[in-house]
Amino acid sequence: MKNSHDAIIIGTGQAGPPLAKRLSEAGMSVAIVERHLFGGTCVNTGCIPTKAMVASAYAARVARRAGEYGVSIVGDIAVDMKTVKARKDAISERSRTGVEKMLRGLKHCVVLTGHARFRSGHWAIATAKAPSRIHIDPPLGRAGLTETEAQRRGHSVLVGKRPMSRVGRAIEKGETNGLMKIIVDEKSLEILGAAVLGTGGDEVIHCVLDAMYAKAPYPVLQRAMHIHPTVSELIPTLLGELLPWIGPGSLESMT
Ligand SMILES: Cc1cc2nc3c(=O)[nH]c(=O)nc-3n(C[C@H](O)[C@H](O)[C@H](O)COP(=O)(O)OP(=O)(O)OC[C@H]3O[C@@H](n4cnc5c(N)ncnc54)[C@H](O)[C@@H]3O)c2cc1C
Repeated sequence: MKNSHDAIIIGTGQAGPPLAKRLSEAGMSVAIVERHLFGGTCVNTGCIPTKAMVASAYAARVARRAGEYGVSIVGDIAVDMKTVKARKDAISERSRTGVEKMLRGLKHCVVLTGHARFRSGHWAIATAKAPSRIHIDPPLGRAGLTETEAQRRGHSVLVGKRPMSRVGRAIEKGETNGLMKIIVDEKSLEILGAAVLGTGGDEVIHCVLDAMYAKAPYPVLQRAMHIHPTVSELIPTLLGELLPWIGPGSLESMT
């Protein structure tokens, strides 16, 4: 085995494997080192297992509310935590082995297990991707600034806001908790931030994120044609209902 590489990556979490793949595909010789479980926090104890368990909780909640939807279930709804855990473990394991297999299949990449440490003045790419968001039920998708943060930074703030109880798709699903909110700079027309707390919120936020990433002025998104009936179709509607935000309480009458 070679004992020198173009790049040494420590950790196989969210950051390390895509970097190893990209460098290896660019023809660089790469070594990636993992001291514990392939896939790191996200796959083994973070994003994936928590969302698998939230899905079980969601199934129990929908089953308990079945009568509201005109569906009758005979007998009590019980949660079998052993099965919940087994399902969660199987989902994590599938991802974990997938990460390891992908790394071991890379042409110019050596996979090492054990604790990596520096001995001389060489540099290495130490991966870290500070935790960013936690999914809850109903989901929360958030991007950029809140109206208060935007105002503190000197923006002249416009806000569009709507409770989920006024979103057709949420009403059909019987999941009307939460709200949608979008924050815009009045002068530049730039979208500064958004929050969607409610059914589909973790997916809906991406149409706002994409527009923010492209630095598109908000009318571009306002004029976009979205599929009906969805939660996302309300984003253009919100952008057509923007109101000046003066401070806390200025939009209370809308909710
Ligand atoms: C409960 C929970 C829920 C979460 N939910 C979400 C979510 O829904 N969405 C989201 O975006 N984020 C979520 N996160 C955050 C997300 O898991 C982390 O942001 C992400 O895993 C960080 O990736 P990383 O590659 O930087 O580090 P890690 O995933 O921590 O990977 C680092 C890897 O490096 C290895 N390592 C460290 N030091 C060495 C060494 N010296 N030698 C060899 N190997 C080493 C470790 O063993 C580990 O495998 C959640 C986190 C938690 C705890």
